[in-house]
Amino acid sequence: MSDELYEGPCEAGCQRFHGGETQHTPGCGHYPESLTKAYDDQIAAASAEADALRAEVDRLRGERVKPLVWVNAPWHLDCELADEFGLYQIAKDEGTWFLYIGHAETGIAHATLEAAKAAAQADYAERILSALAPTGDA
Ligand SMILES: [Zn+2]
Repeated sequence: MSDELYEGPCEAGCQRFHGGETQHTPGCGHYPESLTKAYDDQIAAASAEADALRAEVDRLRGERVKPLVWVNAPWHLDCELADEFGLYQIAKDEGTWFLYIGHAETGIAHATLEAAKAAAQADYAERILSALAPTGDA
């Protein structure tokens, strides 16, 4: 993008409102210097901030859920580790750790045991928290 302002025509899809303001499409030559882009950037930044805050809230809520207790699980043919109830099972196959949730037939691949455990914990926290009613005076 040069310093010169684009003076060409708008792209199809740009909208001109009564009062003179124009909403440019991202493909329009006017877009990079437009209020439309400034607004889009603000919206994207606010959205990213909201996502980060939501993730932080989820993380803090997740911390309130007790960690799964993993045990060796020799009773299950392919399973090396399971939580106490056997709802989460982790089995290693050819260097990949597969997490089975709720006795699912399909395991989800993870590169490390820690990653598989973290995924199980996240699923567990999600299920626990989704079962709780909101507190009344929130
Ligand atoms: Zn335009």
